Amino acid sequence: MKISFHGAARGVTGSCHLIECGGRRVLIDCGLYQGGRELQEENAEDFGFDPSQIDVLLLTHAHLDHCGRIPLLSKRGFRGEIVTTAASRELARLVLMDSAHLQEEEARYQARRWARRGRGRRKPAEPLYSVLDTLASTEHFGRTASYGHPIEVVPGVVATFHDAGHILGSAFICLELREGKSRRTVLFSGDLGGEDRPFLRGAAWPPEADVVVMETTYGDRLHQKLGPSVEELYRVVNDTFQRGGNVIVPTFALERAQELLFFIREGVESGKLPGSIQVFLDSPMAISATQIYERHPECFDQDIARLFGHGKDPFTVPGLHFTKETADSIALNRFSGGAVILAGSGMCTGGRVRHHLRHNLGRRQSSVIFVGFAAIGTLARKIIDGAREVRIFGESVKVHAAIHTINGFSAHADQAALLAWLAHAGRPEQVFLVHGEEHAMRGIKDHIEVAEVSMPVLHQRFDL
Ligand code: ZN
Repeated sequence: MKISFHGAARGVTGSCHLIECGGRRVLIDCGLYQGGRELQEENAEDFGFDPSQIDVLLLTHAHLDHCGRIPLLSKRGFRGEIVTTAASRELARLVLMDSAHLQEEEARYQARRWARRGRGRRKPAEPLYSVLDTLASTEHFGRTASYGHPIEVVPGVVATFHDAGHILGSAFICLELREGKSRRTVLFSGDLGGEDRPFLRGAAWPPEADVVVMETTYGDRLHQKLGPSVEELYRVVNDTFQRGGNVIVPTFALERAQELLFFIREGVESGKLPGSIQVFLDSPMAISATQIYERHPECFDQDIARLFGHGKDPFTVPGLHFTKETADSIALNRFSGGAVILAGSGMCTGGRVRHHLRHNLGRRQSSVIFVGFAAIGTLARKIIDGAREVRIFGESVKVHAAIHTINGFSAHADQAALLAWLAHAGRPEQVFLVHGEEHAMRGIKDHIEVAEVSMPVLHQRFDL
């Protein structure tokens, strides 16, 4: 039995781990690297294993850094089965189609630019995969997993998905491996949710395991509480409106967007936000994502399930507009103030948010609120780290808008929550830290009192 790491090794994106057991190969996640353009090249590199030899892919959740290389895997020969929860399956399809679309758009844009003034420069790369590749890859979705129900995914490997409380349909996965007389239990945390999420159930406690592979996004940090973060959101929105500006929130159309809508609705109902507020969810997939949420009440906590039961939609805010078409998105530039614009992507690596940043970053009246994790090298991270000037669509844009980071909305467990979760896994012999920057891993490593803690590097392989 062996385990190897083909992504999210000393980094936050590109999750991809391989288990070999009894001649079978099981992949856990196949995520995209996200960040600067150099990471585009990392995505195109060899996987470090032969995709045609993978029997099954278990998907923890539908975030792009966990599922984003699936179409590439299938393009390069994967013929196995993808197993995940019903909600993740629907969300992953949507996320992958959106990703293919963005990549095709970006490739067309780069090709046009190159044709105009490229002489002597390197020809831009083809998109990693197309919409057609993506459609073909989603054919591999097979059995769906329900929380707490073991599935024998291949002979000798039984997988149980448990609620991870991170996004709709998210799971951590417990694998029971059998090879000859040996038995091992390996736990993959996927991404674990933080405490007091507004509508999802929290992460379940894990069963005891011999080996744990754990995410460490916020391994060295404790989060602000949710309550003060919501108050901060209201304060920033009100102050910005008084200055006559807009509030831009770079966010993916999944989860954080629904969470923000939920709090904005509560703010309007309690009078903490103006009733005249205009909210735009500017994403071609926003409507679809919200509909998928509405189709999976089984994932929500009791209070929200009750709201749905009474025919109320917790994500509907008065003055909410969905902008699906690019023309509607461009029309938003007319608003010089009084609007909250939620647009992807959260790390500003692509998507429509870059247009809104181009129009608002230079205005002192406007604000930008970051509510999620931003990896090193991304536009979001540069702005958060205090850049006075950034490049957007090849142009330089000065940063005059007020920049806020509110981390209480984080969908990731902080150090205390990660350690509490790990404590329930009994006394594992080995813990592998993944999905974190090196300082975050080092920050949690010393707190883990088990036999061995490793921080694998890319393509490193270990005996189990
Ligand atoms: Zn995630």
